[in-house]
Amino acid sequence: MTADSTQTAPPLSEALGQEVKRRRTFAIISHPDAGKTTLTERLLRAGGAIQMAGNVRAKGERRRTRSDWMSIERDRGISVVTSVMTFEYGGCVFNLLDTPGHEDFSEDTYRTLTAVDCAVMVIDAAKGIEARTRKLFEICRLRDIPIITFINKMDREAQDSFELLDEIAETLALDVSPATWPVGRAATFAGTYDLRHGKLNLVQPVPEGDERLALMEEEVELAGVLPAFNQEAFDQGTLTPVYFGSAMKEIGVTDLLDALVEIGPAPRSQPTETRPVQAAEEGLTALVFKIQANMDPNHRDRMAFARICSGKLARGMRLRHIRSGKQFALHTPQFFFAQNRQLVEEAYGGDVVGIPNHGTLRIGDTLTEGEEIRFTGVPHFAPEILRRVRLDDAMKAKKLRNALVELAEEGVVQLFRPQDGALPIVGVVGTLQLDVLQSRLKAEYGVPVGFESTPFTVARWVKGPQEALERFEAANRSSMADDLDGDPVLLASSAFMMNRAMETNPELTFHDIKQIG
Ligand code: GDP
Repeated sequence: MTADSTQTAPPLSEALGQEVKRRRTFAIISHPDAGKTTLTERLLRAGGAIQMAGNVRAKGERRRTRSDWMSIERDRGISVVTSVMTFEYGGCVFNLLDTPGHEDFSEDTYRTLTAVDCAVMVIDAAKGIEARTRKLFEICRLRDIPIITFINKMDREAQDSFELLDEIAETLALDVSPATWPVGRAATFAGTYDLRHGKLNLVQPVPEGDERLALMEEEVELAGVLPAFNQEAFDQGTLTPVYFGSAMKEIGVTDLLDALVEIGPAPRSQPTETRPVQAAEEGLTALVFKIQANMDPNHRDRMAFARICSGKLARGMRLRHIRSGKQFALHTPQFFFAQNRQLVEEAYGGDVVGIPNHGTLRIGDTLTEGEEIRFTGVPHFAPEILRRVRLDDAMKAKKLRNALVELAEEGVVQLFRPQDGALPIVGVVGTLQLDVLQSRLKAEYGVPVGFESTPFTVARWVKGPQEALERFEAANRSSMADDLDGDPVLLASSAFMMNRAMETNPELTFHDIKQIG
């Protein structure tokens, strides 16, 4: 459906606009070990959200002891949990969304990146662009998300600064504009020179005439040939300003925060099926992009993380849940800070809030004050790994069914129920998701399971006229399954077989991405 151009968007409110303008919602993307966790701690500390650096980690550790699922995280030293942290700095309200670092969680990561307005790309100064950074960057590029680059670990042996800038420009096909320049290197790294404001930010005194300053001046002059900062190019995602620093030594961290305040984009508009929604519109709209269950072992609650796409949220509001058409009362929306959660009294376009619920809210859901719109852009990708769940204790079949539905709703795996009545099949993008599923089924639901291979390696959502679809389903019953929403999916043993099905059924369409919501 295309929007009628005469159908005007709701009016923008000036007061709301002021609040929205000071929201900064971003994620940090990096390869494991580049320093994302350390930088997160320092940002939160600089933002006054925590008193002592190290607390983020400490809290993580406490959380990790709670279940086997978390112990996967601990054992493998990776983060599989996406969460949000809110803090204030320089008159802005920051919502920092954590992206899981492991590539098996790309679907989750993708969805998180649909909820940000900007990304900070952390690069290890000794290693340059690494595989995972590149992949995450590509996801950002798909949505033209502006990128600020932070070259970390300048307190250690690093590659030549110009070579690093060249490497970013070449491997990512991006204009690169140095915003700060390092003063000193490795053990003598003393701070940065802010090219845009002509200001030195030193953490240790550097005497005038020091050779570090002389070198910096010389290099800054050479760097003059590189593109100057351009707000428009940055907003469009074609130019990245580059900051040098050391998260560990807390050098360059406030440069980065100041940059986010000064140039960091305010909340962008969000696409719906009918019209883009501007953040400063009067009516509240929100998009659920992440579900996390059992965050608090004392309450089996499910937290839906929603990005407020427009308007003002106030506690106690009654919203319309578009998928079900029902009312949803917003009793206890929460902000997440480094150390605690706090009830949200009000929040604005761009903010990310947690909404506790008992399964009503799903990934991709839209909440509004009444308007019938649905946000798009939150996808499911066709899984490439399909496994049958084997249950050793037949008494627990019902429990397993419910648990699988809950975990699929949370986005841990995708669930396919074969139309011929065979045992459920789970689909994942990476095998680590199966480990997470297995440990969570055991730890949280008391259902031990195993996995068996299936003949299937390709899945496609099938769409078409009702009659043709039904005929196709009847003829292919043993390779048809229903997904969580009851939408039909064809499972095939190879790309060849899938192509054959596509060729012989031109009246149907086969999709490897499903828009949810
Ligand atoms: P993540 O995997 O990206 O979250 O990386 P971490 O923040 O856990 O950092 C990985 C390792 O690099 C840890 O041992 C950190 O102490 C170290 N590290 C992080 N930032 C810096 C830095 O600026 N300088 C140095 N020398 N080490 C750092």
